[in-house]
Amino acid sequence: MPQSAVRLRFWGVRGSIPSPGLETARYGGNTSCITLEIPSPDGPGGLEGPGGEAGSPALFILDAGTGIRSLGIDLLRNKRLPITAYLFLSHTHWDHIQGFPFFAPAFIPGNHIIVHGGMGSDNELASVLTGQMLHRYFPVSLSELGAVIQFQRTEPGEHKIAGAHITVAELHHPGETVGYRFDVGGLAVAYCTDTEPYPDPDGPDGPAHPPIDENVLRLAKGADILIHDAQYTDAEYVTKVGWGHSHSPLRYVVRTAIEAQVKQLILFHHDPIRTDDHLDAFLAEARAMAREVGASIQIDAAAEGMEILLPVKTGAVLAAV
Ligand SMILES: [Zn+2]
Ligand SMILES: [Zn+2]
Repeated sequence: MPQSAVRLRFWGVRGSIPSPGLETARYGGNTSCITLEIPSPDGPGGLEGPGGEAGSPALFILDAGTGIRSLGIDLLRNKRLPITAYLFLSHTHWDHIQGFPFFAPAFIPGNHIIVHGGMGSDNELASVLTGQMLHRYFPVSLSELGAVIQFQRTEPGEHKIAGAHITVAELHHPGETVGYRFDVGGLAVAYCTDTEPYPDPDGPDGPAHPPIDENVLRLAKGADILIHDAQYTDAEYVTKVGWGHSHSPLRYVVRTAIEAQVKQLILFHHDPIRTDDHLDAFLAEARAMAREVGASIQIDAAAEGMEILLPVKTGAVLAAV
């Protein structure tokens, strides 16, 4: 990695449940997991550790769906351990935590994992991850893992963590869900998964044209990249409004990204029923929607293994915090 680039990589892009198989092999069937690596101000590659030690390998992990298993294997293969990892959970639905018990570095002494989340308290965050590793579900308990694992509630608001300025805001989804914005080196990446618009049945355009969520707009404003839930087509969404567990319809997502003036929108949390061919068509539809309104925004669909290098902006300071 060039010393002055933020590296974004997708390890799991699917919503709800893993969907392996020949028809999903190109985009991938693993559930949500993304990494964001930020160069250290004092050395190539790594972030500062939690104590501010420069150059120690560290990374941000966004959600711990089954994609985190591949990340763990990659870290082992490339001899990148020990690590200090900051795991930011959007919420604790299965598809965002179920990979954690299979994250190999968690088993190995010398690694340090700090779990952040906007929900409940430090203890509640710990109890959810402990709960999915009770012996009736999994043979090794959380307390038996070799790595040091800490839990730190990250309330909605502003935070400074490992050299990044992080904004946390609540999203519209059951189970206390938050979105994140990471500002570092003059770059901004927003992560808003598992969210749907607030219904406005009395609005002029009805449920198919809901108002844009102010919190998402704030997180995404002017961002280089917005990673956004795009689980449904507009037609699918209309039949699911009011179910209490919906996700965002495509046209709403494209409108949101244009309104927020982001440079690149990445469609994420693909519905498990969506095949690779469906996703190709879904992406083409999103791009056509942007063209229709004359927007020049870049739109892509997240795929496992997709990697984006974002050069740190000239003159930007990588803050040591
Ligand atoms: Zn989800
Ligand atoms: Zn969810």
